[in-house]
Amino acid sequence: MAKLFLYNTLTRKKEEFEPINADQVGLYTCGPTVYNYAHIGNLRTYIFEDILKRVLIYNGFKVKHVMNITDVGHLTGDRDMGEDKIETGAAREGKSAWDIAEFYTQAFKQDIDHLNILAPDIWCKATDTIPEQIALVRTLEEKGYTYKTSDGIYFDTSKVKDYAKLSNQNIQALQEGARVEKNPEKKNPTDFALWKFSPKNVKRQMEWDSFWGLGFPGWHVECSAMSMKFLAKNLDIHCGGADHVDVHHTNEIAQSEAATGKKFFNFWMHGAFLNIQGGKKMAKSEENFLTLEHTFLKKGLHPLVYRFATFQTHYRKPMEYSEESVQAAQKGFQHLQNQIRELKSYQSHAPGSIDPANRGKFLDAINDDLNMPRAMAVVQEMLKSGGSESDKLTTVLDFDRILGLDLDKVDKTEILPEEIQQLVDARHKARQEKNWAVSDRLREKIEARGYVVQDTRDGMKVFKS
Ligand code: AMP
Ligand code: ZN
Repeated sequence: MAKLFLYNTLTRKKEEFEPINADQVGLYTCGPTVYNYAHIGNLRTYIFEDILKRVLIYNGFKVKHVMNITDVGHLTGDRDMGEDKIETGAAREGKSAWDIAEFYTQAFKQDIDHLNILAPDIWCKATDTIPEQIALVRTLEEKGYTYKTSDGIYFDTSKVKDYAKLSNQNIQALQEGARVEKNPEKKNPTDFALWKFSPKNVKRQMEWDSFWGLGFPGWHVECSAMSMKFLAKNLDIHCGGADHVDVHHTNEIAQSEAATGKKFFNFWMHGAFLNIQGGKKMAKSEENFLTLEHTFLKKGLHPLVYRFATFQTHYRKPMEYSEESVQAAQKGFQHLQNQIRELKSYQSHAPGSIDPANRGKFLDAINDDLNMPRAMAVVQEMLKSGGSESDKLTTVLDFDRILGLDLDKVDKTEILPEEIQQLVDARHKARQEKNWAVSDRLREKIEARGYVVQDTRDGMKVFKS
């Protein structure tokens, strides 16, 4: 079996991946906080995790993948200050907290489906594991790791000696920065809430009874409780975006290892940010984020163009979003589709076979810490090389087990030619400006070039007639 190397945030180096148990790899990916749509930055992280999962499967591992849905307990500040994001979202939209969580969970599932992200084997809502979370906090309390303040039960981070081992952050500097800390009852600035009490004067929509009275779990507790529940003896790989290193994952490790006395996950992997121009991180809290719906679907762009676009940058490097980068990805994806179409047109009745030399190069690239830019270069090299068309087609369709670009269905996921796309963009703009006369004229132009235009509830759809 080929060797698979993955960068482990915990050890700060690429390491050969070996599962704890040969029969199954446990993969835990931190899921969405469902108070708003996922933005394309969040989705970049889920695409990286999907590539990881596909690479594990391609290497012959059997993967058990768990993803949580954070539907309670994530406060507007990651360090336990502020409001519960779900209850705030509910107030904003005049719906119940439960309805908000359900609505955005479905929206998220639709997004990942559009991007060909393989669904986890187990989806789990935070609100479905409250007893397990209470039990974990109770264990920590019994072992002497907790203390009580006026608003909750907190984890005392000074009781674990290697608290900063994941992030390597300077705890001394954090202590000094504590002067701006808004919670004077915390013993250390890095301490975090395990259980929050419901406020006395406000009735929360989501609250549960516990050893400590009515309240709700702190955000980090759910991922520890769920991974231990579902992956028990397969704590192999735990992932998320780079923003999870300093707080969320550091706290998960601290509380889990304190509770069990055992190592919590061997590999920690983190995807770098998608930034908007100027290097600013795309964030839900900024309210200026881009969704898949608005950036791709509503404009008649195929969502897999975004998946393709993310392959141009290694997952540990920041990626900048711009209209130009989308246009370049669209051209690149269209070119790839045309190459496949051409290979299909040559296809004889004899089925091709996977070319071992190119497969080896492709495997070397993906097994080198998921090097997708290199893997895409191998794809192009192979397609441009001599050799039998049917072998090339069979080989590239095998690579598509990783790429997930629906290359086998190339005719159904057609990318529009540049000229048509420009007309579609102009018509989209005209419709936004309610300029119906221009919109109608553009429709006629698109149709005159052999395409069908449909205005649906989900935006404009354009197909070859
Ligand atoms: P959330 O729904 O906010 O809990 O985030 C879901 C996932 O997206 C987490 O793994 C985050 O670390 C990740 N994430 C958040 N912002 C970005 C961004 N701008 N680029 C890439 N990943 C992000
Ligand atoms: Zn998590």
